[in-house]
Amino acid sequence: MSNEFDHDAVAADAARDGGRDAAWQDDVRAGVRHVRDLDALPLSAGERAAAVQAAANHKVRAPKSYLDLIDWNDPDDPIRAQVIPSPDELVETDGELDDPIGDHAYSPVPRLTHRHADRVLLFPTYQCAVYCRFCFRKESLTAIGRGYTRAALEPPLDYIASHTEIREVILTGGDPLSLPDKALEEIRARIEAIAHVRLLRIHTRVPVALPARVTPGLVAALQGRLMVTVVTHFNHAREITPATEAACRTLRQAGFVLLNQSVLLKGVNDSVEALEELCRELMYQLGVKPYYLHHGDLTRGMAHRRTTIAEGQALVAALRKRLSGICNPTYVIDLPDGGGKVPLSACQAEPKGDGFWRIRGLDGQERDYRESVDES
Ligand SMILES: *Cc1c(COP(=O)(O)O)cnc(C)c1O
Ligand code: SF4
Repeated sequence: MSNEFDHDAVAADAARDGGRDAAWQDDVRAGVRHVRDLDALPLSAGERAAAVQAAANHKVRAPKSYLDLIDWNDPDDPIRAQVIPSPDELVETDGELDDPIGDHAYSPVPRLTHRHADRVLLFPTYQCAVYCRFCFRKESLTAIGRGYTRAALEPPLDYIASHTEIREVILTGGDPLSLPDKALEEIRARIEAIAHVRLLRIHTRVPVALPARVTPGLVAALQGRLMVTVVTHFNHAREITPATEAACRTLRQAGFVLLNQSVLLKGVNDSVEALEELCRELMYQLGVKPYYLHHGDLTRGMAHRRTTIAEGQALVAALRKRLSGICNPTYVIDLPDGGGKVPLSACQAEPKGDGFWRIRGLDGQERDYRESVDES
């Protein structure tokens, strides 16, 4: 299996099977796969030069169907902002980090992070179907960059087998769904052979950026003993299309639980209207529950996409008023050095003592609340 580029391996597999998955392969081939492919896009000379420089720090890649969502007449297009390198990426700001959420501090063996007792992150590949400019793992993707090999997963699988407290294995990366069906099936089978593991979770942008890849073969590769949760990564309502909807429907009908995590990105989704439409349509149109809204990580060269925490808090407070409970994500910050994901919603309750609280209602009015508990 190729170490260079998982998609080549996937395409080779599909070709052996009679090329049944041609639709998504065409989508990959016709998209941006290398920096030189940017020449075919309507970029300014300045953007192109910056793109070449930025690509040294973080690869450039996007399938054609994703690029087709871009309105090239709009320099601030929210899809463009996610995948086309910007000259701003070359600016480093104080406080930015190579490992913004502390993956490495909690990595007992390569390709695994174990920060919470009951769940681990497993990295079967460091390659993706699309490279997002804001990715908080971009340094790892560049420095490690490798695809899947069976041998590379032996140490993390042994680790999981010998730690009986682990109930949930989270495939992340890289994008696990950029792997061939056969590799996914192999990984799933190895994990489900470990009796104490209960749930397989998959963090992926494939349903958004390469929805045609969500084939019956991919679904079958993931079905087995384990409960499966797929956590998608939609950041804007414009990513909700007939194709992404079909991909989510296929995953839902397979019995997988679908959640979404978004990153709060300045100029992409940092308005109440953008977040409201995204979260509402995720739930009502796709049947995908908004799970987390991540505060922008301290990724290098990303100051131009970060909001302040106060801005994020004001946005989620406004969302809370506009959207039903199930449409609201939890706004979290992933602390550097492995402090974990901490909810950032502004606290609305203040203890006054003797069982009294002062609590702000959604209408903004403060109210006294008296607790009543059985003291006996
Ligand atoms: C995000 C993350 C998880 C998953 O956290 P949940 O709150 O369960 O979604 C697990 N381990 C690490 C190291 C993480 O960064
Ligand atoms: S798909 Fe995920 S891991 Fe890959 S570049 Fe985008 S955010 Fe990073």
